[in-house]
Amino acid sequence: MRSVNKEFDNPSDILQSEGCQNKIQQALQEKNQHSFSQYYYGHPDKVRRDLEQLYFGKCAYCETKVTGSVLRVDHYRPKDKIKEDNTHTGYYWLGYEWSNLIPACEKCNRAKYNAFPLEVTGIRVTKPPLDNHGELDKDSCRADSPSLLAEKPLLLNPEVDEPELHFVFLPNGKIKALTERGKETEEICNLNRFDLVLARKIIVDDFLSKIRQLAYDFIEGVINKETLHYSLKCLFFDMLKLQSPEQSYSRLGWFMFKKFKLFFLKPLTTKQRKVVVKAFQLFKNGKL
Ligand SMILES: [Zn+2]
Repeated sequence: MRSVNKEFDNPSDILQSEGCQNKIQQALQEKNQHSFSQYYYGHPDKVRRDLEQLYFGKCAYCETKVTGSVLRVDHYRPKDKIKEDNTHTGYYWLGYEWSNLIPACEKCNRAKYNAFPLEVTGIRVTKPPLDNHGELDKDSCRADSPSLLAEKPLLLNPEVDEPELHFVFLPNGKIKALTERGKETEEICNLNRFDLVLARKIIVDDFLSKIRQLAYDFIEGVINKETLHYSLKCLFFDMLKLQSPEQSYSRLGWFMFKKFKLFFLKPLTTKQRKVVVKAFQLFKNGKL
C-alpha cells in the first residue's frame, strides 16, 4: 500500500450527475434498504476508469495490477452493513461518495468485505450528516472530514493516511506491521496471503539470483570488472524503477533498495558480499 493523492473535490462526472444525486436522495430515504446502483459508483467508463488511472491500474490495498473488469470498486466505509456492529446501518450515505470509493483486487475486496473496525477511542458516525435544510452535508462526507477522522479507523486509507509509516517489507515476501493500524490492515485485507507473498518473493529472488551469479562469475574470472559493474548497474537501475508508483509492489522495490544489505548481501558468501557492496556504494554515489 502506498499514499495516493486523490482530489476529493473533483469526483468522476457521473457522481455529480442528476441521476446520481437522485440515487443519493433515495439512499437517504431508504437507508440500508437502498438498492445501490453499480452504474453510478462503479461505472466502467467513468468511476472505474478514473480510479484505474489514479492508481495506475493497481489494487489500493495490495498493489497488484488489476485493470478492466477485474478491478472492484470497494467502499472503504461499508455501505450496507458493518461486521463489528450489527446495530449499525452501514454508511449508506457514502455509497456514491468519491472519497469512499477505492479500487481493489477481488481477493482484497473479498477479504475486507464489510470489516471496518475503529480504535477504542474512535467515535463511530451512525447517521448521515445533514445541514439545516435536511440536505446531505457533502463536506462532512469527505474521508478527511473531522467527523470521519474522529472515527479513528483501524483500516489504513491510502488517500488519507501515510501507509508507508505502518509496514516494512521483508526478503521472504512478507510484510511486517509496525503499528496497530498496520497489523489490522494486514489482517483485514489478508496482505500476507500465499499468492501475494509468493509474488513478492519471486521479485526478490530474481534480483538475488542475478546478483549472486554476477558476483560468482567475477570471482571465478568468467567476467571482468567492467562487465560486472555494467551488469550490476543495470540491475540497480531496474530496482530503482520498481519504486515508481505505476509498478506492482512498488513499496517492496523501495525497501529492496533502502535495505539492500538485508535483502541482497546477507545471503551471499563473504567474498561475493565484498564485490557487491563495493559496486552498490559506487552506484549510490553515482560513480558506477
Ligand atoms: Zn489487493
